[in-house]
Amino acid sequence: MDKKLFVISGCSGVGKGTVINEFMKRNSDDFILSVSCTTRKPRPNEIDGVNYFFISKEEFEKNIKEDKFLEYAQFAENYYGTKKKYIRQKMEDGYNVILEIDTQGALQVKEKMPQAVLIFIAPPSVEELENRLRGRHTEDEATIQKRLAQVKIELERSLKYDYTIINDSIERAVEEIESIVRKNVAG
Ligand code: 5GP
Repeated sequence: MDKKLFVISGCSGVGKGTVINEFMKRNSDDFILSVSCTTRKPRPNEIDGVNYFFISKEEFEKNIKEDKFLEYAQFAENYYGTKKKYIRQKMEDGYNVILEIDTQGALQVKEKMPQAVLIFIAPPSVEELENRLRGRHTEDEATIQKRLAQVKIELERSLKYDYTIINDSIERAVEEIESIVRKNVAG
């Protein structure tokens, strides 16, 4: 049976990483989380080829020119992108592929591969998201305000997604993703 591509995005601070990690723990037999390329520097504990393929700006731009990316986006001076060849290879290996990418990239994927299934993870409310962002104590006020403005843009783009799920409980969000992917893989 043909393998499927699922794209999962969510507002910053919505807890999508936790939800996706939990989904992957339970479904690693036939699902794989795609590894993107980026030009940003690795954070402590990040491993090349595991968290990202860390490449230079020159190499990234060469790949753009040669049309090697299924999608890519640029934030804060850094590029992030998904290689076409990587996705093709994983599908040939027998996996359904999950992309955890931003909303700009997700809409590029939908244009090139209309059969891809787009899932958006939304916060229960913008106030709740604001509390979560503040609770992390990792960003200053100006950054939080910028993030909240970005949330509005993302929520707007999410209207083009196939599914939106509310992350009010991790367990329920994971179950909802499982039910969506099972339905689409079977179909
Ligand atoms: P971070 O630098 O925190 O790892 O990621 C920053 C943002 O880049 C996140 O919103 C993440 O979803 C997004 N991202 C990671 N990989 C890709 C990719 O391959 N393509 C796109 N469009 N966004 C990505």
